Amino acid sequence: MIPRTEIFPNVIEMNYQARKRLGCCVYLVYDGPEWMLIDIGYSDTVAEIIELIRQMDFSLADCRYLVATHADVDHIQGLKLAKEMLPSAETIGHPEAARLLREGDRIFTYAEISAQEISIELPKIELDRTIDDGDIVQLGNKQLEVWHTPGHTIGMLSFRLGNLLFCADNIYRDGCVGNIDAHHGSDIPEFMESLARIRNSDVEWLLPSHGPPFRKDNALLDEAIARLERYSHRADFGTCAVDWPLLDEWEEELTRGVLPK
Ligand SMILES: [Zn+2]
Repeated sequence: MIPRTEIFPNVIEMNYQARKRLGCCVYLVYDGPEWMLIDIGYSDTVAEIIELIRQMDFSLADCRYLVATHADVDHIQGLKLAKEMLPSAETIGHPEAARLLREGDRIFTYAEISAQEISIELPKIELDRTIDDGDIVQLGNKQLEVWHTPGHTIGMLSFRLGNLLFCADNIYRDGCVGNIDAHHGSDIPEFMESLARIRNSDVEWLLPSHGPPFRKDNALLDEAIARLERYSHRADFGTCAVDWPLLDEWEEELTRGVLPK
């Protein structure tokens, strides 16, 4: 038996529990004997994570849910294996994530980045149930409120538990946000809305999917939103930008016959 390292009441995070970096954050939430996991990470760490959970004296039969915050391979590659090892758990996620996982979409999930010769296994899985904004995930006497927070990718979910928000890849402690990439279904205006929703909420702690949890900081969120606003008008972000003011300026100069000077 090993002691449980709680980072918040009823919340354990498996990288903290293992005292080493396993991969993405894997949050174990429990109430009484019942527990659930928010994301699972890559397949090769699943056995170690489940063994740690067993050693913390959780019954594997009491796992209620395996949650996919979104379908990115670094968050869910191990989901199929985890479901096999925890057959009593219900796999849940957003309908868009469920579709990507059912189809084994290799582009949206980052399993395949051919320009960088990245090609990794993505086990297809049919989620047991889909959940969406406003739904409640009931765990013992605790309720997690489901937020749909797209922007980084389609179908990304965050989960509110009291003053905590499991905020997936929306924002990290250093103010970075989840990768913005057209092939990944990123949408900058939606991303700004998701960040504004987090900013305007009264949650006190953000528990992201990468790196340490941190206190919600409106100045950090405002800076990220302003940065994304600038991105949305820059060629740097290609088809993810909503416009590129230079082209309008140039068009106006062309019609006036302005030559380079
Ligand atoms: Zn991620």
